[in-house]
Amino acid sequence: MSLFYYGTQDQLSKKEAFHLKKYYKKHSFISSGRFIIDPAIFTNVNLDCKNCHRVHVMTCCEGGQPYSTDPESEEKLRKAAPSIIKTYLDEKRQWEADQSGYMEKFAVGPQHPTIKLCEGNCFFFVKDDDESYCSIHRYALDHQRSPLDLKPMSCSLFPLDIIQMDSTLFVTAITPETTAFSRWGYEYKDHLCVNREIREAEQISPELFSIDGYRPAWEWCRDLLQTTFGDEIITIIMQSETTNGT
Ligand code: SF4
Repeated sequence: MSLFYYGTQDQLSKKEAFHLKKYYKKHSFISSGRFIIDPAIFTNVNLDCKNCHRVHVMTCCEGGQPYSTDPESEEKLRKAAPSIIKTYLDEKRQWEADQSGYMEKFAVGPQHPTIKLCEGNCFFFVKDDDESYCSIHRYALDHQRSPLDLKPMSCSLFPLDIIQMDSTLFVTAITPETTAFSRWGYEYKDHLCVNREIREAEQISPELFSIDGYRPAWEWCRDLLQTTFGDEIITIIMQSETTNGT
């Protein structure tokens, strides 16, 4: 069976595939049409991204790069990239883009094109004294466009994960149990956004990752799911949610 991270050209490694199979044997899921829904997507999370840098040493766009993109997404980004680079990125990155572009072959593992690393971070990541942000996302909002239209799908999908198993799509989310095969890996398992238990134990200001702000993981990606797969998947998830008793 072929196993791909949906929306990328990247296959699961042997180790990831092994852990996925183990997880698959151990748990129950809801199957409908081409989708297999993992109840993990009902885990409560709080993507309070604007406050991430206030509670974590590194945000999820630091120290890494997105998974590979498909040619269609690459083309959309290609059209907007010159404006994004000119408007939001510093002179060093503008020079770098001019000299060698902003894409590269993925450094480790599969050699598919993805956004390159620059000084250890995603090329489009911006950090200054006051804030850190994705310049692709910022550009989309500043131009009344949906960030989903321009950002790599992998970035927009967090904290969900969709794994293509031949013609079936396994829809899951990052939890301590899925990290061994999730594209998000182990790095985020202790982040407050996806671990409410840790958040509850933290003595931090109540407005940071507020406990009331946690809601089911899939809801954060509702627009992405709907845009990509249509109403069908939303209906299936909502029915699964009732079946699951959440
Ligand atoms: S493209 Fe944007 S969201 Fe994705 S890793 Fe880079 S900075 Fe982060």
